[in-house]
Amino acid sequence: MKLNHARFLNRLETLAQFGASGVFKGVVRPAYSEPDLAARDWIAQEMEQIGLEVQFDPVGNLFGLTEGQSILLGSHTDSQPQGGWLDGALGVIGALEIAQASMEAGGPPISVVNFQDEEGRFGVTTGSAIWSGVLPLEQADRIVDARGESFAQARSKLGTRAQGWVDPARFSAFLEMHIEQGPVLDQRELGIGVVSNIVGIRDMRVQIDGEQNHAGTTPMSMRKDAFQALASFAVTLNAKIASYVTHETVWTIGHVDLVPNAASVVPGTVTFSMQWRDASLARLDQIQDCIFDTLQMVCAEHGVTFSCSEPLGIVPTQMDQSVQTALQHAAQELTPSLWIDMPSGALHDAANVAKLMPTGMLFVPSIGGLSHTFTEHTDPKDLFRGLDVLAAGVTRLWRRNSFPSHIA
Ligand SMILES: [Zn+2]
Repeated sequence: MKLNHARFLNRLETLAQFGASGVFKGVVRPAYSEPDLAARDWIAQEMEQIGLEVQFDPVGNLFGLTEGQSILLGSHTDSQPQGGWLDGALGVIGALEIAQASMEAGGPPISVVNFQDEEGRFGVTTGSAIWSGVLPLEQADRIVDARGESFAQARSKLGTRAQGWVDPARFSAFLEMHIEQGPVLDQRELGIGVVSNIVGIRDMRVQIDGEQNHAGTTPMSMRKDAFQALASFAVTLNAKIASYVTHETVWTIGHVDLVPNAASVVPGTVTFSMQWRDASLARLDQIQDCIFDTLQMVCAEHGVTFSCSEPLGIVPTQMDQSVQTALQHAAQELTPSLWIDMPSGALHDAANVAKLMPTGMLFVPSIGGLSHTFTEHTDPKDLFRGLDVLAAGVTRLWRRNSFPSHIA
């Protein structure tokens, strides 16, 4: 197939106009917002013009379908409240270009998907999680966003767009191209990352209860200071898990709510988020045990108590070996010495779709490792390289998979 780089870049630039932030090429396009739905309508038009059959499903996942069995390519076009022009958009527009070029070349058959709410206004990778059966629709409908709107209310904005579900059985594989959203490729001056696996995530809220009191009259020895307990917990945990984590393991206390949060009061309560990510399920469990042990020990020392919410998360996901091999061979052929195998530390729709069909991912560099910010960027020559490798990988995969039926 003959890819048209100018047409691809032009579509990416056009998509960036929907919800343009006015800062660099940034976008404000949260799921189900006006600019999000307008962008999806525009993409639906483009799909139709290419000759794909357009179908929105009941939650707004947008499919551009080719007849019969096909390979599915895509990602998502919703953004974080402050997002960049490439996150998700690259995978959808790249899929459109490959679908169009393959249509012009007479194959392989490519369908395109634009998943809804990958950025998790309501859940975690909501649209693909529902489509792949990870999240029941009835449960999703009850999820409420930060402003109090329910998922059911949000998806009602689809109006007459919403049709039936698309049968996953019509696709033989799913491939998602995405910006890395991290510094590895950029720092090592590489062009392509073939994703080996997507790390698992655990997330919970912890509350430590001490005793709120006067900061001038309460002697240090008599305090039950919730903040001091948290500070001690954070430092102790770092030391305790250092011996068995890998350089890819990450853990974060990203949100802290101190009560009453006043300069002259010994804090009585602190609530905080505790999130950790790792490629190994066993290590995720090991860290979880360590978090509980450390909380127990530290809280006893400080004379305070703690409680935790149920840890939620997503299990680590291995990418399909045959898809990885096709992408590796394509990368080796087109950009020898410029590609590596690497894990994904960020969550993607591919982690859900992998439950339904052979799935793989391809990364291109993020300049400075920046993403989820208006200044996110990638050199167009890296975008073109990603597109070329993805197309070559898809072609290899299709030939390989359809070869036995040809000779049968
Ligand atoms: Zn994304």
